[in-house]
Parts: sequence; C-alpha cells; structure tokens
Amino acid sequence: MLRINDILDKVQSYLSPSEVEMIEKAYIFSASVHQEQIRLSGEPYLTHPMEVCGILAQMKLDAATLVTGLLHDTVEDTLATTEQIEDAFGKDVAFLVDGLTKISKITLGNQEERQAENFRKMILAMSSDIRILLVRLADRIHNMRTLEFQSPERQIYISKESLELYAPLANRLGINWMKMELEDLSFRYLDFEAYNDLARRVVKKKEKREEYTQEVNGIISRELDRFGIKGEVEGRAKHFYSIYQKMKEQHIDFDEVYDLTAFRIILDSDKEKDCYEALSIVHALWKPVPGRFKDYIAMPKANRYKSLHTTVIGPYGERVEIQIRTRAMHEWAEEGIAAHWRYKEGRALSSDDGDQIKKLRDLLDVQQEIENPREFMSNLKVALFPEEVYVFTPNGDVRAFPKGATPIDFAYSIHSDIGNQCIGAKVNRSIVPLKYQLKNGDTVEIITQAGHHPSKDWLKFVVTSRAIAKIRNWVKTEERKRSLVLGRDLLEKEFKKHHLKFGQIAKSSKMAEIYTEYHIDSLDDLMAGVGYGKVSPKHVVHHFLPEEETKKETTVAGTRKKGAETAPVGVSLTGIEDIMVRFGKCCDPLPGDEITGYISRGRGITVHTANCAHIREMDPDRLVDVQWDIREKREYPVQMRVVGNDKKGLLADISSAITSVDVNITHAEINISQDGEAVCDFAVNVNDLHQFNKVIVAVKKVREVVSVERLWRP
Ligand code: MN
Repeated sequence: MLRINDILDKVQSYLSPSEVEMIEKAYIFSASVHQEQIRLSGEPYLTHPMEVCGILAQMKLDAATLVTGLLHDTVEDTLATTEQIEDAFGKDVAFLVDGLTKISKITLGNQEERQAENFRKMILAMSSDIRILLVRLADRIHNMRTLEFQSPERQIYISKESLELYAPLANRLGINWMKMELEDLSFRYLDFEAYNDLARRVVKKKEKREEYTQEVNGIISRELDRFGIKGEVEGRAKHFYSIYQKMKEQHIDFDEVYDLTAFRIILDSDKEKDCYEALSIVHALWKPVPGRFKDYIAMPKANRYKSLHTTVIGPYGERVEIQIRTRAMHEWAEEGIAAHWRYKEGRALSSDDGDQIKKLRDLLDVQQEIENPREFMSNLKVALFPEEVYVFTPNGDVRAFPKGATPIDFAYSIHSDIGNQCIGAKVNRSIVPLKYQLKNGDTVEIITQAGHHPSKDWLKFVVTSRAIAKIRNWVKTEERKRSLVLGRDLLEKEFKKHHLKFGQIAKSSKMAEIYTEYHIDSLDDLMAGVGYGKVSPKHVVHHFLPEEETKKETTVAGTRKKGAETAPVGVSLTGIEDIMVRFGKCCDPLPGDEITGYISRGRGITVHTANCAHIREMDPDRLVDVQWDIREKREYPVQMRVVGNDKKGLLADISSAITSVDVNITHAEINISQDGEAVCDFAVNVNDLHQFNKVIVAVKKVREVVSVERLWRP
C-alpha cells in the first residue's frame, strides 16, 4: 500500500518545501473527510486518492494537480464543500476539484458506440483546465486496477466506458502508457476468455521471444554503429489489446501473428534527417513490406505524434515492425501532453515555455492568441472546443450544438415535427424560455403540442442552419398559402368591377402576356404575387379591358358598394369573405370613418383610416378599397382631447356627459396649461362614428368646455 511518505519522498525532488507541505495538508484533509469510508476491496477509502496522487506524482505534475488528486472525490462523496477547499487550498485547486466533480457525472451509460465521440468531446469541453482531465485519467487508471472488487455488471459497464471514453482521450492527449493500460485492463474484463488465452500464449512464447528480441536488437545496433548513428534499440511485447485487434481485423489466429514484438529505434540526435538515414539503413538490411511505411514526421498525427513506421521481412522471413524517432519525439509519444505539463523548478508554466505552449496549443487547436500563460491555462476550455456545447437528450444521448443554440435548435435536431410543434422546454427539469442558451451538460426536454406552429420570431434567436431553414420554410409556405387565397380574392373582385369573370379569363391564352411581364410561370405565382402586394390587380385587369374603359377605371374603383357579404371583424372587401383583417396600430378606425386596406406581406390586410399619415408612405400598389360592414355591435377604441377652463368639478362634468350617451371611459388624463386651461385626454370605447359624434356633442354642452377634438395617435 502506498504511504504518504512515499509520495512526499517522490515529490521532494521537484517541488518546493511549501508545495510539499501543501500536499501533506491535503493528505490530512482528505484523511479526515474520508474517515470511516471503506472501498469494496475492504481497504480504507483514502487509499484511492493516495494512489491517484501517486500516479500523478509519477508523471511529475505540478502541486495543484497532486493536491487535486488527493481531494478529487471529497466534494462528491463527503461533506466537504468547494468553499472549504478554496479556503484551505486556494482558488486554483477548488476550481480543479469542482471540474472533477462535474465531469465525474458524465457516464456513457448504455449508449451505443456511435455516441462515444460526442461524450469524449463533452468531457474535453467540460475539462476547462487540462489538469482536470489528467486527474480524471489517473482516477480511472486506479479504478481499473482495482476493478476486481466490483460486481460483474459494474466491471463490464466501467470497462466499456474506459475503452470507449478514456482510452481514446488518453490517446488524444498523447499519453500512450495510459491508453495501453486502460485498453488492456478493459479488454480483460470485457472478454476474459480471449484475454486469458492471449496472455497464456504470450507468456508461453516468452523465452523464445526474448531470445529473438535480443538477436534482432543486436543486428540493428551493429548496423547503426557501422554507419555512425547513435541511439538505442528497444524490443517490446505489444500490448494485448493491440494484438487482439490485429487478430480480429485481419481474421488471423494467434499463431499467425508474427510480430508480437515491436522494435523501436530512439536516436540520440534530435535531427529529423537522422531518422530518415536510420530508415534507409534498416531498409538496406531487410526488405521492406510494400505499403507499410508511414511517415508521421512529415505528416504528424492529430495528437502531434511523430515517428517513422516501417515493416520489414526479418532474419527468419517474418514481419518485423520498426519505429524510428528522436528522443524528443519519444517523450512526446509516451507522455504526450503530460510531458508538457510537468512541473518545472518551482513554477507553473511561465513565459519562457513559449515553445511548449506552442506545441500544446497546436495539439489542442487553440485558435486565439494568448499572451499570458496563466490566462492560457484558464482559457483551455475555450481553446478545446470554442464553438460547441454538448447537451443530453432525455434518453441520455449527447448532441453537439454551436454555441448559443437554444431549445428550439435542439427540438429541430430531433425531428422537424418536434421543432414545429415546440411550445416549451425543460432544462434539467425546470421550464426555461425558448431563447435560453444551452450549456454543456444540460439535459433538455421539449414540450410539444399537436397543431402548434413555429413562429417567425424564433428566427431572431435560433442558430443552427437546420432550425433556420425549417422555420423559414414554414413561414414561407404559410405566407404563400395566405397570399394565394388573398390574391385570388383580390383579382376576382377587381375583375368583377368590370363585369369580367376572373375564373374564365385565367384560362385564356392571353394570361401568358402577364406572366411574361411579371417574370412568372403560373397562375399560382400570379395570385401569390397579388397577395404579397408585388403585383397590382388593377394592372392585371388592364390587359383585359377595351381602351376607353381603362380611363374610366379610376372612377369605377372609387365607387363604393354596400358590402353584402362580410368578414367577421366588420370590414369587407366587396364580395370577399374570410380575409385576415387587422387594424393598424397607428390609427383607430371607427365604423363610419373612411378606411383603406393595405396588403401586408403574408398577413392579410391591415386597415387604416383613409387620412392616416402612414398610408401616404406606403406602396400605393398594395392599397385596396375596403368598407365597413357591421353585422354585430362591437366596441372600438378612440381617443379625444377636451380643452376647458380649469375649475372644480370640470372632470366630473365631462365624465358624466360622456357616460350619458352610454359610452365607457377607459383612460383619462388631465394637464393644466400655463394659462390656466385644463387639457383632458380621454380614451373611450364606442360602437361607431355616429356614437362618437354624440359624445362630442354632449361634451361640447358642458359650460366650461372650449374645444373637443378627436386625437390621432402620433
Ligand atoms: Mn475517484
């Protein structure tokens, strides 16, 4: 069992006394909060954080990382709080422990393999400081080493997670030994028989293999020597999982796997060209197998791994895999990012580690320029996946979204019907607004309602192209549907004025003229164009009128027919039913007022008073004649200003005059001007202009009143 003194001895060689003291303090803290907790192995719980710290010390990581290793389970599993840790060990450690608590909650569960990449990205994105991930990997290594004490179900579950999430993460960070150990341990639990069989056979061949390894080593070394190249030759048994993968991929039996041993030439020189020279020496010695040479120096792997790989036909006609690299390349290959996180003489990363920062930055695809290395550390999160967030579906699937994505984006990513019918969303079980911006690790649930439709307003906050396209498409289809209906009605009405039947004319060949004029292809396009207000129905009808009638046109259009058929709001276009009519927000038209309709794009017709100031600024081609058509009484708001001599009781007198004609006041406001006049603004509800006129007459009868006028909204 690892003792604290073992760790302290180890770190004394590279940490300052005050840092060593801090580790001791973390040990005492961890021991006190984990007190009485027992692992499944029967050992005190404390052995686990100790072992994790030991692994991190082996990797020579900095003091904050080691302290975090000792404390990594305290917030999750004991009564200790983040505040306590911050007080005792500072912000840096508290931040790291907090990060570990968060990522420990990400579990692959029963997800399929295809989901694993998203989970990996999520862990990376949530490891806002790369040291969090290093501690997590050490944590996982120790848990895998002691997995035998778990139930068989847990063994399978944890191994699967280690193989699919953590081994690839270790690989991504370039920490080869962790990757291999996680793979071999997982393999052992996931397929015990295959593992055991393989292990037995590898051991059986051990003696023979060692003999063979020495022989090949000797040949290569002598040959390098002869050409004056200095370096070291290593022959190592491949790890079990890679042998197993090879057997599976190439459908071969164990006995057919010749290259159980891989050879490695590590050059003393740090020049890349020497690697190529060593390669040519090897190729002169043994025939290379065609198609097996890989140049990871010219083209490094994504994790910055560099080496030359080749396979040759060895002394017994067997295949021999050989890797050639410099010492620096080797260090990177084995320890990856950890090698560059190594503690350096009493300081964390500092500015003269420029080159290392550059490597790290390249490795992690850091896009922004960061001057200060401390800032660089805390910005690693931004650096890893700056533009993405990862969230869970209620089933535990992970989905990636661009930063700023909302529940609507999420809904459309599942299915366009879910998006279209989305009426609300829950994040981590609480209702959130639809414009809520998703955060890493959120669990998102969409509330839908059959028959619900998307809103044009959603376009203001959705970010995924899929959601934008779907919403736009819906809005467009909907606008076109409405415009078609409206356009046809407007055309029919216009033709009817001239005693023509649009339905018949629409079939005539003369329509082609119009299509050409407006660059359209079909009758539908024409009707939609009219509905959108792009095409004037008057222009269309001109094509079908005898010349002299064209001149009379204006007067004909000016004639108002009494509306026989009506729309429910009390406004009609002659002969047209069921148009969408709204009242302009700028004026309050009353039945009896002269009114004008304006075709608003895709939204039917907006009604304004004929003298509304806004009408004058509108596209005249989109104006249509409309008239009141009152079938049932309704109240309409209207505003008026009464000016009178200020005297006691004036407001009461005016109010009673208004109510005497059975009209409700909804709002009243009085201001006294400098020359002692009372200016009273009223909002009242009336049925029509006639009733409003009665109000005016009644108010004018009040003795002190000087003037009464209708107010138009500015
Ligand atoms: Mn742990």
